[in-house]
Amino acid sequence: MPRVLVVEDDPSIRTSLIEILTEHGHSVRSAGDGFGALREVTQGGLDAVVLDLGLPDLDGGDALRMIRGISGVPVVVATARDDEREIIKLLNAGADDYLVKPFSGGQLVARLSAVLRRSAPPAPAAGPLPQADPAGPLTVGELAIDPRARTAHLAGRELSLTRREFDLLAFLARHAGTVVSRRQLLADVWREAYIEDQTIDVHVSALRRKLGERAAAPRYLRTVRGVGIKLVAPH
Ligand code: CA
Repeated sequence: MPRVLVVEDDPSIRTSLIEILTEHGHSVRSAGDGFGALREVTQGGLDAVVLDLGLPDLDGGDALRMIRGISGVPVVVATARDDEREIIKLLNAGADDYLVKPFSGGQLVARLSAVLRRSAPPAPAAGPLPQADPAGPLTVGELAIDPRARTAHLAGRELSLTRREFDLLAFLARHAGTVVSRRQLLADVWREAYIEDQTIDVHVSALRRKLGERAAAPRYLRTVRGVGIKLVAPH
């Protein structure tokens, strides 16, 4: 059952959102202001947040940034302003989607399930992630990784990697050919609920450089926009 936090200061709107989401099988918590929302997010255990931007205590954009400062939980913002620039700003500030008020219950549920789908681990269509010996040697194209020795070679040349770059590469190699989401990287490589948004990108870029490739002409490291990243053997 998806666990959703509804942040809305208008009690009647809040009640109706809670009713709609509960009817559609969500487990719902709620907050009436920005600081209440931050308290709930800090407690964790949420799969998504619906955030009204017109709150009494905090500017909606600030509330969004503060939530982003403590959690990677998907956030759908609800705005009364149908202003494209404003919406782009919010998406850039870390919103996963938006709704323009007034919106229907159907729209809310649909947007929310799309966001939950995107943030879920990769679909079972690809099968569960392979459960091979996690410390066994891995080969992808000309890349050879030995998790026990913590060494990686590309075409016979040893790569000089930081601890985190090695963990990232080994994790991607273990799931070679499968798109790995940021969420999985957070859970399995960083083992932290929240890190700066750019942290993964910074490590991916460094790794890319050490593999001798550029984002514009990727060989091993393929970024799938909005989904994640995968390691593949180049053709
Ligand atoms: Ca409001």
